[in-house]
Amino acid sequence: MRKKVIAGNWKMYKDVNESIEFVKELVLKQNNIPDNTDVIICVPFTSLFSVNQILKDSKIKLGAQNMYYEDQGAYTGEISPLMLKSTGCKYVILGHSERRTYFGETDDIVNKKVKKAIEKDLTPIMCIGETLQERESGITNQIVEKQVRGGLNGLSPEEISKIIIAYEPVWAIGTGKTATPAQAQDVHKFIRDLISKISNDKVASNLIIQYGGSMKPENAKELLSQPDIDGGLIGGACLKVDSFYGIITA
Ligand code: PEP
Repeated sequence: MRKKVIAGNWKMYKDVNESIEFVKELVLKQNNIPDNTDVIICVPFTSLFSVNQILKDSKIKLGAQNMYYEDQGAYTGEISPLMLKSTGCKYVILGHSERRTYFGETDDIVNKKVKKAIEKDLTPIMCIGETLQERESGITNQIVEKQVRGGLNGLSPEEISKIIIAYEPVWAIGTGKTATPAQAQDVHKFIRDLISKISNDKVASNLIIQYGGSMKPENAKELLSQPDIDGGLIGGACLKVDSFYGIITA
């Protein structure tokens, strides 16, 4: 039986003080987290260390939103997996559509990052998803397949068993438009079957596949009740403690 994994992605919101204030409130309400649910909060780099001081003895886990694929070196402005680990961070979002769109991340770059994260014992949350134009052209599955195969290229089944995939239709991110539960379920099932082909049935049936794209308390329950939807990657609705818990308790 797979757990539900709810991850918040703050994106480029909240300075250090706002982050501390938020997680203190989050921890105060942690008894609301159901037993079968893991909660992760992915904060800006600048808040990781301070937030970890508050989360380290709590049920809530800490994640980052990106990293570079080298251990260290002359890469001005980049952050390595070892640096993330030194803050107490355990998860890292990789290949978010905003990284792909605004910062030119390709499947090949995402693949290098996923491999490096696994090597350093960080759990990658690898994001994939089609644009509106791709959906309307009927090529959603082709796009998703290309991103999954590209991002996981060269990984063994054991390595694939260590990742989380977030299916995030680009047209649903931050737009208020959500995939219907049936639309999301279809793609999640397609991804699970694909993972079975590129690794094996056991890895596929244990893999956590999150849905992301305008998930909120009002639509979370129906999405999370689908057989292949194992959680959510939440943007806008995780910026307020109450709406984040609204999804966690759904
Ligand atoms: C996201 O940033 O991954 C996301 C799903 O954002 P939102 O929930 O705001 O659509």
